Amino acid sequence: MKHSTASAAAIRGRLTAQLADPIPMRRGSLTERTVKCSRPGCPCKDRPEARHGPYFSLTRSVAGTTQTRLIAEEQADTVRRQIETGRQFRDATELYWGACERLADAEIERLVEPADRREKGGSVRRSRRRLRKKSPRS
Ligand SMILES: [Zn+2]
Repeated sequence: MKHSTASAAAIRGRLTAQLADPIPMRRGSLTERTVKCSRPGCPCKDRPEARHGPYFSLTRSVAGTTQTRLIAEEQADTVRRQIETGRQFRDATELYWGACERLADAEIERLVEPADRREKGGSVRRSRRRLRKKSPRS
């Protein structure tokens, strides 16, 4: 995945910027659809291009239930952008968690016997790093 190659400085910069001030962003996804009506004789019944719409709805899962909200056509582009910003923020948050958890691992590894740590932790970490370097991005 793309995330794993972002530098610590890049992660810090993005998170710092996004946490400093709340910005418009949201979770969820935008759905666009056209619909058929039940009016007798309406061409939407037979011709896809005569369907009504497009209608936009924002769906979001909250505590196991799906919330749906209608979005006006003129709001759709902005909502799309807000969702994309939210997605980038979530990615940055995941990278931040990754960095924090590596620090957390290092912190508890210092608590075990030094000889033990050199044999186990050392070799595992070295092989992992070698695998990552094969990526053309890093
Ligand atoms: Zn119709």
